[in-house]
Formats: sequence, C-alpha cells, structure tokens
Amino acid sequence: MTRSRVLIALVMCISLVSGPSFAAVKAGATCTKAGVTATAGGKKFTCIKSGSKLVWNKGVAVKKAAPAPTSSATISPGQKTETRNLLSSDPRITPVSGLTNLDICKTEDKTPYTQADGTLAHGNGFPRPSFTVSGKKSAKVLVVPMAFRNLPFTDDKNQAGSGSTSDLDQLNKVIPAVVESFRTLSRNKFEISIEVLPKSQWWVFNTDSPFSTMWGVPHAPALQKILDEQKKDFSFKGYDTVAFATGNGLLGQNNLTSAQAGFLQSKNSDTGNASVVFMIGALDRPIIWVHEFGHSLFGLDDLYPFSDAAAGRRSDRTSGTALWDLMADSSEANLLEWNKFLMGWLDNNEVRCIAEQKSTVHYLTNDPSSKGPKLLTVNLSPGVTLAAEVKPGSASTVIDGSRLLLYTINSYIESGSEPVVALSTLYSKGESKSMLGWTFNVLDSDDNGLLVEAIKTDVDKFVIPSPKPRPTQSTPLTSKIKIEKSELLSTGSFKARATWNVTGHESYRLFVVAADDAQKVFFETGIRNSSQNPLVIEISGLPCNREVRVTTMFFSEKNGQGERLVRDNRDLGILSCEDGTKKP
Ligand SMILES: [Zn+2]
Repeated sequence: MTRSRVLIALVMCISLVSGPSFAAVKAGATCTKAGVTATAGGKKFTCIKSGSKLVWNKGVAVKKAAPAPTSSATISPGQKTETRNLLSSDPRITPVSGLTNLDICKTEDKTPYTQADGTLAHGNGFPRPSFTVSGKKSAKVLVVPMAFRNLPFTDDKNQAGSGSTSDLDQLNKVIPAVVESFRTLSRNKFEISIEVLPKSQWWVFNTDSPFSTMWGVPHAPALQKILDEQKKDFSFKGYDTVAFATGNGLLGQNNLTSAQAGFLQSKNSDTGNASVVFMIGALDRPIIWVHEFGHSLFGLDDLYPFSDAAAGRRSDRTSGTALWDLMADSSEANLLEWNKFLMGWLDNNEVRCIAEQKSTVHYLTNDPSSKGPKLLTVNLSPGVTLAAEVKPGSASTVIDGSRLLLYTINSYIESGSEPVVALSTLYSKGESKSMLGWTFNVLDSDDNGLLVEAIKTDVDKFVIPSPKPRPTQSTPLTSKIKIEKSELLSTGSFKARATWNVTGHESYRLFVVAADDAQKVFFETGIRNSSQNPLVIEISGLPCNREVRVTTMFFSEKNGQGERLVRDNRDLGILSCEDGTKKP
C-alpha cells in the first residue's frame, strides 16, 4: 500500500530556520561523524579519522541504480532536429517584454502556517519558508537505522521481509535511487548527499516500536521521548535533515508503513530545531523518501486529500495531480514544474508570467537539457495561479508531439484539501481548452515542446474567494485528545482486539463496517464513558472473506460530547473463513 502519510501542515507548526549548507562529499573533504557512509558521484565514501581531522576516504565504486522514471521524454541525441529550434524561435512567440513581471506570479500562499518564531511561512507560495534549502545546490541528510523488538533493522539477509535481501541491503539500494531521483527531477540543479550511521551506532531497542502506523498520529513526540530519555547526546549538527528508519518488517508483517516529516526541538542542533523524517517500514520505496524530503528540505505541501488518507483510502490515481506529482502520489518520480519553481530549480527565464494580456503566445519545453521555458504561470489573483506545462506525447494519441497540461494552484485551499488540481486530459496540437477566464490553443508541437496561445476571455472567470478563517478544529497536535500508539490485531475466531494508548478522552465509540459498505455494521460498542489508558476494546462478530473498516471515535467529554477525534483503520484486512485468522 502506498501511504505517504505526512503531516506537514501539522508538523510545520513547530518548525523553523535554515541550516547551513555543506561541502560536497568527496575524497579528502571534511566530514562530521566517524563511520558514516555517503554516496556521491557513483562512489560510496566512509568518514574516517585522519590525524586529528575527520575526512572522507577515497571511496569505492557502487553500481549505479537504474535512473528513476521521470515524466521527461527519452531523447536520443539524433532526434534533436531543427524542428525544435523552429518552434522555440517561432516569430509568433510573445517577447519577454510583453510578459508580466515574474514577481507577480511568485505569489504568496493565502493559507500560510505559523512557524515557531511566530512568522508566517508560505507552504505553497513565495517567499519560501526560512528553514528550506530552496534555491540551494545541495543538502546533507543522515540516516539513523532503528531496530525495535517488533520491527527490526538488520543486515541479516534471512530475516528480511522480502527475498534474500537485508534491511541494510535495501537501504544501500534505495539511497542511490533517491540521489538519482533528485538529480533527474532537478535537471542536475540539486544534489542530495545521504550518509548512514555505521552499525555500531544504530539505535537498537529491546522494546516495541513507539511509532503508530495509523495515519495522522505524529511521530515526533515519540522520537522526542527517546532523545530525552535514551539518546541525550545525539547530535543533529551538520545535517539539513536526519531520517530515522526502521526495517521493512518481518516476513508476513503488513500495514506497518508510515512515513512522515516533522520538526522537533534539540539543543544539539545548529538552530535549536531539527528537521526530521521518519521512514517506518517504508525503506525500499525511493519515491516516498523523495516525498518526505520534499517536506523536510523544501517545505512542500501534501497534494493528496487528507480525507482519503485518514479513511485508509488510496486517492484517485487517475486525477491529473496524482499522475504528475509525487507530493500527491508516491508511485512515480514526477514533480509539477510549479513545485520545481518553489524548490528553486527553475531559473527566471524558465518561467513565463502573464496576468492581464489579451493574447500571448509561448513556447514551452520539457527537454531536460534545454534552458527554454518550462512553465507558464497565469496570475488569476494574489495566491491563485493557472499553470501550463508540457508532457510527452503518447503512442495512443492520434497526433504526435508533446501535450499541454493545465492545472490550478489555489492557495486559499490548504494542504490536504487539494490546493493543486491538474486536469486529467492533456491537449495536443490543434486542440484547445477554456477555463477560468482563459482559453489555451495548442498551435504546434514536436517531441520536445509546443507553442501555446493564451487568450483572456470573459467566460467562467475566476472569482476571488473570501479568506477563510483558519480552522480551529482539532488536529492531533493541538487536540486535548492525544493518541500515542494504537494496535489492531486479529485474535482468531472472527475476533480482534484494539489497543489504544490515548489520553484526554472521557468517552469513546468503536464500530466495524464493511470496507465497501458503511451501512453493513458488524460490531458496535455504542458510546461508552471511559478515560482508560491504555484502552483495550475486544471486537467480535467479524465477517470472513470481506474487508472491514474499524472506526474509533474519542470524545473529550462524557456521553460523546465535546471535541471529537476519529480514526479509521483497515489493518485487519480480510479474515479467512477457516478460523477467522488473517490470511497471509
Ligand atoms: Zn507528505
């Protein structure tokens, strides 16, 4: 199951400030922690002590991982014909002097979040939040492997969750893929270096993992507790983000995946605050790593609907945004050009800005080696942008050549409620699309780009929304009700047990329905008054061969009154009809 469950809107509230940037990893260059390893330029380096200094050793060559797939077309050198040059120098193209100043399109976010220092940060706009590495050429990450009794991290091939590979093997495989993804997505403008603590410094606990795998429960408090009680000397200094990773889980373990980005306070950091990423059971998924670093290093918003994630649903993958941006769906290594703009990966001449022009013509390219324009931004109002970029043609389209993707960035809508919406249809040469007071005509196209005409109309004009009050409704960080951990286990014979480490509640209700039919209720507690912690609820009467959804509601007052916190869970999966145990 792909779940990139991150609470950036929540975790960012306690964030801030940038870290310094660092020298690249290369032989002889200084490093921070003896024993850590880093991969750069196709070599794996180890930080060693040389005299009184810490330096990178000469490194050993690593096999290059297959480049992650991207949205860019594969172009062989011979294909770069003059056709492209003809399109990019077409006389109909509006000169830069006929465009709007790019600062107008570098629009603010109308639903900014508050940083710890009280300043507002623009998750989906400009200027970029102060802690990010937006516009910098590199960032440095440390990975801390963590082993728990129920969720080990091991270099033992026989214990791994899948095949004859160990957790360490998987980590060593995922890192070059993450490095390569950043390189490709940024068109070589950004280099991430990822170091791993040596085995002697792994975090090994003889307790179970304190990290809940239920969506919406922040991991930072559990990490803070570990740091305060057991790892007082751990230092975040010298790293832009520290990633805490468990193994992928034992064979047969399911639903243990939870990736998050967060911030916590630490005296042992460059700024007093540490940017962290949690990879709980998601070790082998490079794009999920990139997604989390999208939050922790660049302050990007989540673009998938939180309502789906909270209900344990997979978001609609056919929607345009999920197809084209890994902040909406972590299946493929794609990023919309708008996000690359926020990340500082587009030069000013790669973005065109219009606002009031009656008619303009633009050449847009998706050739990664071209310095030509990649993104057309239409400023509809402060905080709201209509954007156009180029995607490859498709074998199934009748007309060859590149196609136009249109999307809106409406920053009046918050992270988690789909601030970015991309159309699921792409437009080919000769086609046109009207939306929000603009008509786009694709005049011509080739394999590397297209010419698009943008005409301002009076039809279906964008109406500036009135600013919404910030929601005061509970989020896990501000709620009176705090969930530290939850577990839902089948106990055989069509029974299960839900265990909640929860405080701040005076009553609760738990019910079980069919995953595909909420009207089909298999179990129901009704509202019960209890402030127990841990709260153990025995469930019976479960069906077999049918997926169920377990909904638990906690209330801050007795009899279902007061603030309400709801959690949906599908971890039980489908029970076997033999004896009610979970199918493997
Ligand atoms: Zn996320």
